[in-house]
Amino acid sequence: MSLVSRLYELQATELELRNKRRLLQDTVVRLNHNPELSAAEEELAAIESRLDNARKHQRRLDWEVEDLNVRIRGLNDKLYGGSVRNPKELVSLEQDVQSVRRYLEGKEEKLLEAMDVVESVEAEAATMRHRVASLRDSWEQERPGLETLRGTVEAEVSRLTEACLTVRNDLGAEAAQQYDQIARARGVAVVKVEQGRCKGCNLTLPTGLWQRARAGETVECGSCGRLLYVE
Ligand SMILES: [Zn+2]
Repeated sequence: MSLVSRLYELQATELELRNKRRLLQDTVVRLNHNPELSAAEEELAAIESRLDNARKHQRRLDWEVEDLNVRIRGLNDKLYGGSVRNPKELVSLEQDVQSVRRYLEGKEEKLLEAMDVVESVEAEAATMRHRVASLRDSWEQERPGLETLRGTVEAEVSRLTEACLTVRNDLGAEAAQQYDQIARARGVAVVKVEQGRCKGCNLTLPTGLWQRARAGETVECGSCGRLLYVE
């Protein structure tokens, strides 16, 4: 096996390793974080807080209506209790009752509106609670599979890391350095030659260079500088 064909293999193994590392990272992220669920939870919290405010508002109106009813009862007691006999005072009491009653009607209307709001926000909260629960359920169901996948990919990552290290040690520092330098500069260090063309830059290679590459010599493309590999 020529040096360049081993470098080509190393390159493929390292690419696989990078992909597995990415998959591992994605898997860990998915295990620890579910953006859809987090968004639904945030939305639910916002609805719950609106519901809390709507209930407080309703309760305030409830008390106000209750107070007004107490006031009207007090005025009526005075009006019909017989303790007040002065006609002027009786008329004024009657007017007070009517004015408080009008005020009460306004408050009662507001109370009904507030009750409607509470009801509709309660429905919203129920829908969102259901959504959060079902997202949490499916995440819980997905997790064992993700845990298994993480274990498998972790094992593959360590196997591939080990394999790359072994190949690099066998190749020696000089070859590895040349390979790394080209990879850093060009992204891909070793490219195939197909129909006399360098697959890195797509230029036709001089016959002499191509033949040397075919013989397994370590040669660089004169144009893009990548190592040439002939299968
Ligand atoms: Zn080239």
